[in-house]
Amino acid sequence: MIFNKLLFLVLIVSWARVATGKITVLTTTSDLKSITEEVGGTEVEVESFCQGAQDPHFLEAKPSYMQKTNHADLVIAIGLGLEVGWLSKVLSGGRNPNVMDGKNGYLEVGPLVQVLEVPKGPVSRADGDVHPEGNPHVTLDPIRVGQIGEQIAIRLSTLDFSHAEKYKQNAALLKARLENKTKSWQQRIDQTTLKKIVTHHKTLSYFFDRFGIQNVAILEPFPGVPPTAPHVLSVINTSAKEGVKLLLVENYFDDSVAKRVARDVPGVRVESVPVSVGGTSEIKNVDDLFENLVRKFESGKSK
Ligand SMILES: [Zn+2]
Repeated sequence: MIFNKLLFLVLIVSWARVATGKITVLTTTSDLKSITEEVGGTEVEVESFCQGAQDPHFLEAKPSYMQKTNHADLVIAIGLGLEVGWLSKVLSGGRNPNVMDGKNGYLEVGPLVQVLEVPKGPVSRADGDVHPEGNPHVTLDPIRVGQIGEQIAIRLSTLDFSHAEKYKQNAALLKARLENKTKSWQQRIDQTTLKKIVTHHKTLSYFFDRFGIQNVAILEPFPGVPPTAPHVLSVINTSAKEGVKLLLVENYFDDSVAKRVARDVPGVRVESVPVSVGGTSEIKNVDDLFENLVRKFESGKSK
C-alpha cells in the first residue's frame, strides 16, 4: 500500500517534469528565485514562497505551499534558521521524498558561503531566537550572490546534466557582472561619506560588511524582538553620539519607531527600503536591489 502511494508520487513528479520539460524549482525567498531564474534560464520554472515585501522569518506554512512542494523537482532555501518556523512543515506536508533535506532536490545555500555573526558559545533565549546560527541574510551581499549562483548551477547540473555547461556559464556571467558593479557601488557609497547606519533588524549586515559600513545600532533589542522604550532611548543616544545620518527601515517593518528616533536626533533621515527582490514593484532583480540601496545612501547625502 505504502509502496503504491510512493510509486504514485514518483509518477506525478516525473509527469510534472515531462509535462513542462523544465525543472520545477521552489525557493524560499524572492532573491533566490531571481538568482535561480538567471542561472537556470529557460530550463527552469521557479516560484518563491516568500514574496518580496514579506518577512521570510515569519511565513505561514500554507497548504498551497505543500501542494507546490509535492510537484517540485528542487527546493532551494537559505537555511541558517531563516525558514525554521515554517519550511519543515511545508516539506513534511508536501510529502515529496525527492525534496527532503539530504536529497538532491533540496539545497540550502546559506551554509555554503562565509556566514557572519555566528554566536560564540551557547545562545540564550534572552538573546532572541531569530539568528542562532549566524546571520541568514546572505543575499544582501552582491559577491555572495555570485557564489550562491555558482552553487545553484552545480545543483541544477546534478538534476539535469544535459544543460550543465549552460548553468555554469550563466552563473559565471551573473558573478562577473555583480563583481564589476560592486566596484562602482563601493565608489558611490564612499563618495557619500556615510559610514554609520541604524536599521530596524540585522538584515543588512552582509551589505554593510561588503561596503565598509558600521551598523551602529538596531531598533530591535534582539533579533526578532520588537523595540522597547528603553532600547529605543539607547538607540537615540547612540545615534546622536555616533553622528548617524541615515536610518534604514526594512520595508516590512513599521517605520514609526524610526521616525521617533529621527525626531530626537538632528539630521537623521529615515528611509524605508526594500531588502529583497520584489520588495517594491521596481525591484525586479538583485541588481535593482543593490542599486536602490546605494541610491538611498546617495539621497541621504544631498539632504
Ligand atoms: Zn533576520
